Amino acid sequence: MKEIKKLGIMGGTFNPIHIGHLAMAEEIRKRFNLNKVLFVPTGNPPHKKIDSLASTEDRYMMTILATISNKDFLVSDIEIKRKGTSYTIDTIKQLREEYTESEIYFITGADAILEIETWKNTQELLNICNFIATTRPRYDVEELLSRIKKLEEKYERKISLLSIVPLDISSTDIRNRLKGGKTIKYMVPDSVIDYINKRNIYK
Ligand code: ATP
Ligand code: MG
Repeated sequence: MKEIKKLGIMGGTFNPIHIGHLAMAEEIRKRFNLNKVLFVPTGNPPHKKIDSLASTEDRYMMTILATISNKDFLVSDIEIKRKGTSYTIDTIKQLREEYTESEIYFITGADAILEIETWKNTQELLNICNFIATTRPRYDVEELLSRIKKLEEKYERKISLLSIVPLDISSTDIRNRLKGGKTIKYMVPDSVIDYINKRNIYK
């Protein structure tokens, strides 16, 4: 574990995980020569009940099921174990203590990088790890590039942007499809679909 040179961190709600997440993580892993990508499902907010948010245990299990066949994908329970709201900065700091020899690359989709200034300690976060953003359908690339450029200037840190295969899939859409009785086959790994059906999640 400790000899991982380049470690990718893929944070997300994964409610549920879908092939958009998996294809994105694999494409970045290859392109940036990352040794491993660690998927970090978020914890549930302590007092807020969000509609259609599966339990932390179920989201963690689905993330494990979806990633188990890829030897370079790992899953962390660091955020789901933590009490209270989890901030990415705290997670990265904790992971840096665990993976002392690793260089950390934080992976975000287009929508997430555009929100980074609402995250806790943006400057410190950009300082302590490398950021890789990806394109996402419905997010204009030109707009994304100019926003990233502004962030780079303001925080004096490089943010890489990788154009990836466009997969117009979101967890919101998957949940809506399930509610509407539509198929999600080939959008979500079969093992995750079986788990959702068995546990009656998103009904
Ligand atoms: P929701 O609709 O519930 O917000 P989501 O599909 O956006 O779900 P998240 O768990 O919110 O999934 O996303 C985790 C990370 O993956 C984010 O950085 C997000 O931008 C990125 N991501 C998710 N789906 C895609 C996709 N199809 N293409 C590119 N990036 C994606
Ligand atoms: Mg999202």
